[in-house]
Amino acid sequence: MKVNGHFSNLATSYLFTEVARRQREYTAAHPDAETIRLSIGDVTRPLVPAVIDAMTKAVAEMGKAETFRGYGDEQGYGFLRDAIVKYYAGKGVELAPDEIFISDGAKSDVGNILNIFSTDNIVAVPDPVYPVYVDTNIMDGRKVLLLDANAENGFLPMPGEEHVDIIYICSPNNPTGAVYNREQLTAWVDYALAHDAVILFDAAYEAFINDPALPTSIYQIPGAEKCAIELCSLSKTAGFTGTRCGYTIVPKALVKDGASLNAMWLRRQTTKFNGVPYIVQRGAEAVFTPEGMAQCKENIAHYRENAKVMGAAFDKLGISYCGGVHSPYIWLHCPDGMTSWEYFDVLLEQYHIVGTPGSGFGKNGEGYLRLTAFNTAENTKKAMERLTK
Ligand code: PLP
Repeated sequence: MKVNGHFSNLATSYLFTEVARRQREYTAAHPDAETIRLSIGDVTRPLVPAVIDAMTKAVAEMGKAETFRGYGDEQGYGFLRDAIVKYYAGKGVELAPDEIFISDGAKSDVGNILNIFSTDNIVAVPDPVYPVYVDTNIMDGRKVLLLDANAENGFLPMPGEEHVDIIYICSPNNPTGAVYNREQLTAWVDYALAHDAVILFDAAYEAFINDPALPTSIYQIPGAEKCAIELCSLSKTAGFTGTRCGYTIVPKALVKDGASLNAMWLRRQTTKFNGVPYIVQRGAEAVFTPEGMAQCKENIAHYRENAKVMGAAFDKLGISYCGGVHSPYIWLHCPDGMTSWEYFDVLLEQYHIVGTPGSGFGKNGEGYLRLTAFNTAENTKKAMERLTK
């Protein structure tokens, strides 16, 4: 037998293990130092009451013969897909329920969606970005073209002359916090239509966008329904990182190489996926109620306030950064020409603050460091006071 040889082309993923190792060793050597972790891309606030109430009711239903549910629809329950249709209508986007596929989170679908594309496709991925895009393509043996995201282009690469077949766009971006505006996304949609390419639009952080002029969905751009798939998640919108629920939108107008991508994705999901738990989908439905949405927005406002506190501290220090406005991430330019790991060590050893070295997100991340707003207001303030005093 032979294994998938493409796995040997993957770079060793040591970023978060190395961050944890350095933090552990530092804490062991300095037990009195109160370290504050501003490195994790995980929410810190619990699920909101509307979600807990809905899931509690669903648990009770599962315990009664009359309301018990077994296998559900692989594409997701109608009640949740209808709630998402309404949510998108609020953004001015018209969707049909069968264009929405409920998932156990965006990470799975970011990887799984590649099942419907040929391994001959050329893939464009911004650098730096969420590492899953590159790694899932390397596992399949696809050719990846990196698009430079840097201070010159505001960490928002734009289409070039070169032909590509699949384009990843993450807006607001992890790790840079940069957000594409309407004109920039229109340029990408126009490119995709002209090149018969498909955009994979990762909207995992859309709920952090705080300016009605900025698109929160690729389908707010005319023509996107003919060239884009949108992947979204309730992880950051509603604190579902451990609860696991997201959704992928594949418009029926998306026809490539003579095939309906919606029909292909449905075939893939009905073959390889058995749906998200009923209890979780009821919790997800509650996120889209006025009450649930207001509660989730309160949590996002809390994280956004933390980001503002961080931004103000770095303004005071004269350290330039990107993000932190429509994103939980602040992307710092390491001062004094330090490398990402050098600045990581300075923050840890002098200020007891843990960040994530930007070099772990791609070659253009060298010389940058990512901090996150996912912490308490108290810890965020304390960390920033250490830096500014
Ligand atoms: N997409 C991006 C850009 C992310 O940063 C993350 C998680 O951090 C995900 C997708 C994964 O989200 P989920 O928790 O829904 O799998």
